[in-house]
Amino acid sequence: MTEKRKKEIELHKEDDAIDAFLNKDNLKYVKPPSMLQMIKTFSKDLVTYVAEGAPNVSAEDYAQRLDACKACPYLKPTHMRCGMCGCLIEHKAKWKTASCPDKDVERWKPQNMTKPSNEKE
Ligand code: SF4
Repeated sequence: MTEKRKKEIELHKEDDAIDAFLNKDNLKYVKPPSMLQMIKTFSKDLVTYVAEGAPNVSAEDYAQRLDACKACPYLKPTHMRCGMCGCLIEHKAKWKTASCPDKDVERWKPQNMTKPSNEKE
C-alpha cells in the first residue's frame, strides 16, 4: 500500500470519527466564532444586562445553567467558553437577560423577565 493511500485511509477514519461524534446526539457542526465575533456577542449581551438593571438568575438556576453547559458538547472547557457564541459561561450564565444560543435544544431554564430573581419577594 502506498503512503498516499495510507494517508487517505487515516483521513477517512478521522472524518468517520467526527461524523459519529456529531451524529450520536444529532448535532450539527458549528464553526466556533472568531475572537472578534466573541467580543461582539459578549459585549452586546453585557450591554443588555446592564441596561436591564443587571438582574441575575437565582443560585439554583445558575447551577442548572452551569450543569447544562458542562454537559453540553459545544462547551470549550479549557476556558469555559461556549463553542456556539464564544461567551465566558461562568459570567454569562448569571445574567438573567442572557440565553443559551442553541435554539435546537432547551438547555437553560427559561427566565421570567418581569421580576429580577435577585430581588427579595
Ligand atoms: S450556552 Fe448553551 S450552547 Fe453554549 S455551552 Fe452552554 S448549554 Fe452549550
